[in-house]
Amino acid sequence: MSRKELDWGQTPFDECTREELIQHCARLYSATSALSSAAQMVQDKSRFWTQGSGAEALEKGRQALEGARNGFDADNIFRAYFRYAGDLLFADASGLQLRTGWAVCPVCEQMASTIGGSSYAGKTCSEILLGKCSGILRDLSWDDLKPVTAKS
Ligand SMILES: [Zn+2]
Repeated sequence: MSRKELDWGQTPFDECTREELIQHCARLYSATSALSSAAQMVQDKSRFWTQGSGAEALEKGRQALEGARNGFDADNIFRAYFRYAGDLLFADASGLQLRTGWAVCPVCEQMASTIGGSSYAGKTCSEILLGKCSGILRDLSWDDLKPVTAKS
């Protein structure tokens, strides 16, 4: 397969739809947060982390995340979207379980996650969640994450 070619001034994002752009941003935001946290865990007083490539990478990450938060609080961003969207933005790979297995009840709209296990999809709502709902849980989808005003 031959690679596509960009002309001067074009970016790979130019032909994306709004939805695709938001998903790219979200995936990069999540990955940058994870990479920054991981880098901070191994950061020490060496030249690499104070003036070298490590320091530059952390600063780029800090600036990118700050800009992307757009004035919203990191916890708010997590609770409103990323806590769930991670299941849709990333796939489990190389023996790593990146998804938390969110399942939704289509009847009462309650949600349950397994964290490190397979999803509760296919189970009856009342088996897993509070109440006597007979809905059958299904995996989370992009439609579930639409803002309430945008849902049809
Ligand atoms: Zn239910």
